[in-house]
Amino acid sequence: MPFDRESLALLDEALAVLADGFRHLPDVPRTAGMSELREPLLAAARRLQDNAPYHHPLYVGHMQKPPHPVARLAYTLALWLNPNNHAYDGGRASSVMEQEAIGEIARMVGWASSQGHLCSGGTLANFEALWVARELHPGKGIAASSQAHYTHERLSGVLGVSFRAIATDARGRMDPAALENALQDGTIGTVVVTLGTTASGAVDPLERILALRARHAFRIHVDAAYGGYFTLADNLDADTRQAFDCVAQADSIAIDPHKHGLQPYGCGCVLFRDPAVRRHYRHDSPYTYLSSDDPHLGEISLECSRPGAAAVALWATQRLLPLVAGGTFAQDLAAGRMAALALHRALAADTRFAPLSPPQLDIVVWAVRADTASQASLRARALHAAAGKHDLHLSLVALPQAMLEPHDPVRAWDAETIVCLRACVMKPEHREWMSEILARLDAAARTTGQESPQSR
Ligand SMILES: *Cc1c(COP(=O)(O)O)cnc(C)c1O
Repeated sequence: MPFDRESLALLDEALAVLADGFRHLPDVPRTAGMSELREPLLAAARRLQDNAPYHHPLYVGHMQKPPHPVARLAYTLALWLNPNNHAYDGGRASSVMEQEAIGEIARMVGWASSQGHLCSGGTLANFEALWVARELHPGKGIAASSQAHYTHERLSGVLGVSFRAIATDARGRMDPAALENALQDGTIGTVVVTLGTTASGAVDPLERILALRARHAFRIHVDAAYGGYFTLADNLDADTRQAFDCVAQADSIAIDPHKHGLQPYGCGCVLFRDPAVRRHYRHDSPYTYLSSDDPHLGEISLECSRPGAAAVALWATQRLLPLVAGGTFAQDLAAGRMAALALHRALAADTRFAPLSPPQLDIVVWAVRADTASQASLRARALHAAAGKHDLHLSLVALPQAMLEPHDPVRAWDAETIVCLRACVMKPEHREWMSEILARLDAAARTTGQESPQSR
């Protein structure tokens, strides 16, 4: 049985406790009989079989990590009420739980008093931060590295501000010299610093970008949608640690609890260092906000309706797994990173592969060696498909020549990019599963005609 079902007994127990709070109300007859629910539910279960096993350690494809069981259960529990965290009227308890959970993420970042809330994901978190940045630096543009998430350029377009892509070094980190060049003409009002790029987990040198802020006035938004929680890990390399250690000096930050925070999708988070930014959200609504003098979450977030269930799930998860260095949550992040480092070592020792530099977080990227760039891309695609047949799920990423050249994957560059293999080694179980993952990778490579290194 790949999915635990014992936890459903706990859900039953918790629902009884929840029902107790509403016992005084007159009974309402059920609208749908259980037998009517059965057919569509089982049909949905059959349809869902057509998925990659995102929950399983043999899935190392994209940034998909199963929610913690307590998050899954708490989310489901809340659905019997389905609170709306737009306003206290819509979700009284869950709004307070959201503020408590957000407060813990802010403390992790190093902010005692800040402004923040949950939102649907990293894209919206970044959007709110860039919108506030535009309000504070009207007429100025946004810069992010060429490896930053693609949505920054798109969001700049939506906001009607110019976007500049800043070159990276060979490891995919923003090049501070290129940024300083771009800052000379005074048109950039905000710099997006990515702590953990989506493609390869590269961490921009935040401390050097902060040093530039002293000379050129600009805002710093940290996009840590994927990487933010790694500030708790105890096994970062020195450069990476240094970047995370100055994150409190940024102006805003996006962190996705649905990426590395063990939450179901629909849970992003944006935080602003200065609580006064809430003035940009000011608006009136004729039918809400009349019930309390405290600001409702809807008065400080861009979206209107938001799932209270997401806040309940996050709150319960953080109650079980506090966001503290040395805690279980932090150790699990560090375990995934150890597995990523082990994968990188194995790939570096294998003559068939040309991995990038050791991962800064827990994403490992490697090219398949070939004579030409286009052949390397074809080989990676073939290996990706063959691995899938061995139930090993990887992903693909196209990377520019500048990032791959130092690793010498090909003799001739007949294309500007190479499609590489990518593994998001995000589950703590990946540590025990690494030898199985490597065995399946080798078996898949042999079926594509890539001889084993020993046979050379
Ligand atoms: C995933 C990701 C995003 C987008 O977040 P969504 O939750 O998918 O909207 C933005 N930035 C980075 C660095 C990411 O990894």
